Amino acid sequence: MNVELLNLLQQQIANRPGLQNNPQMAAMMQSLMQKQQQAHPEDDRQNALQQQFKKMKRSRDQWKKNTEELAHTVRFFADLFGACSICFGDDADCPHCHGQGGISGLKADVEQLVTLVLPILKQAGLTIQPVAPNSTTTQDHNDRVPTIGENNHA
Ligand SMILES: [Zn+2]
Repeated sequence: MNVELLNLLQQQIANRPGLQNNPQMAAMMQSLMQKQQQAHPEDDRQNALQQQFKKMKRSRDQWKKNTEELAHTVRFFADLFGACSICFGDDADCPHCHGQGGISGLKADVEQLVTLVLPILKQAGLTIQPVAPNSTTTQDHNDRVPTIGENNHA
C-alpha cells in the first residue's frame, strides 16, 4: 500500500468517530502502518539506486558527448593534414589507410590549412608563397623554391 492511500484511509477513519473506536479497525490500521514502515527501507534503497542510475546515465551521456567531440576534433585535424583519422598512419592493419595515412599521406584540406596557419605565420614574420610551376620538392637546398617564404637569411 502506498503512502497516499494509507493517509487517505487514516483521514476517512478520523472523519468517522464510530470507526475510531473500533478495535478491529485499529488493529488493521496498525498492521497497515507497520507494513508501510517495513516497506520504507526497500523504497529508500530503490530510490538510492534510481538516483545512482540517473547519475551514472548522466555521466555516461557526458562521457559519450565528450568522446564524440574529441573524435570530431581528431577527424578535423586528420583531414586538415591529409592523415588517416583512425591511426594517423601508425597502423599497418588500419582498414582505412593500411598504414599509409601519415600526415600528407592522404588528400589534405590545403585551403583550410592555409586559412588557419597563415595568421600564425604572420605573427612570426613568415608568409606562404606558391611553388614555381617547374619546381619539385626534391630540389637541392640552394635553389629550392620555398613553400613557406621565410625572411631570407641566406
Ligand atoms: Zn589509418
